[in-house]
Amino acid sequence: MEELLRIEDVYVKFKTERATVHALNGISLKIHKGESLGLVGETGAGKTTTALAILKLLADTADFQGNITYKGIDVYKMKEHELLDMRGGKISMIFQNPLTALNPVFSVGEQIAMVLRTHKGMNKREAMLRAGELLELVGIPKFRVADYPSQFSGGMRQRVGIAAGLACNPELLIADEPTTALDVTIQAQILEIMKSLQMEYKTSLLMITHNLGIISELCEKVAVMYAGRIIEYGTVAEVFTNPLHPYTQGLLGALPGLDDEKERLTAIPGNIADPRQLPEGCRFHPRCERCMDCCKNSQPPMTKISENHSVECYAKGGKLYE
Ligand code: SF4
Repeated sequence: MEELLRIEDVYVKFKTERATVHALNGISLKIHKGESLGLVGETGAGKTTTALAILKLLADTADFQGNITYKGIDVYKMKEHELLDMRGGKISMIFQNPLTALNPVFSVGEQIAMVLRTHKGMNKREAMLRAGELLELVGIPKFRVADYPSQFSGGMRQRVGIAAGLACNPELLIADEPTTALDVTIQAQILEIMKSLQMEYKTSLLMITHNLGIISELCEKVAVMYAGRIIEYGTVAEVFTNPLHPYTQGLLGALPGLDDEKERLTAIPGNIADPRQLPEGCRFHPRCERCMDCCKNSQPPMTKISENHSVECYAKGGKLYE
């Protein structure tokens, strides 16, 4: 499969007057054509920073190190016009809150048309006609093309966001918690739309979420993030049936099951590591029940356990990896 995106050893920190925030601490990932990858982790794990780093949309105060290439071209060496061509044209993003992502003073049709005029060179009339078709694709009647975001419900606004994201038939769609701001029944509808469109257009997907159910529904592969690092990676089938990292085991153990007769769900003790003062060694060690001396002193390497499964942890049945 053709490689679309490669992230190599990326570090991002933000310097403020009081502290330095270590948001990403050496992440590496690849996404191939047609592949769907879920990026999962608690709030503050670095998921959104990863998405913004891919599109070179980090704040000016961010200190970026590492390499991100899109089809072999270094994103951080692209010229401005190449970046504009990539953002929205080749890689699109659906944001968490459709209310803040859409501009309240333009109709939804104008906002979708703007993407088409910028990237496809369409004239205004062609772009508005296509915007109507795209709205129909996500289940909104095309006559609503002239309506404003305030005239839509939350779920419909997110459908507009998806229509704008897919307007140029991007090769990679980054969806940053696209259903978090919506109620459960609307979430299911939005996921269904995304799934069918992804299958139809063979778009690669980077799904950012803290919801493991969404990952199992939409993705083939999953990367689990903790404190700005990928700590477990593999196919959804392998990672969810045989989680190896204590953090992934904790996340899955905290899920309620229809067949379980548990009185209390298992919780992961403690809080996510403070990105201003990350612990030495394994970032998870203050919360880990299997912590050993070596875990406190050195960062465990990412170890390949099988063809489709890697983990960053010293312990497996209490033994150190070679
Ligand atoms: Fe726990 Fe050690 Fe594995 Fe970190 S490396 S998750 S502290 S066992």
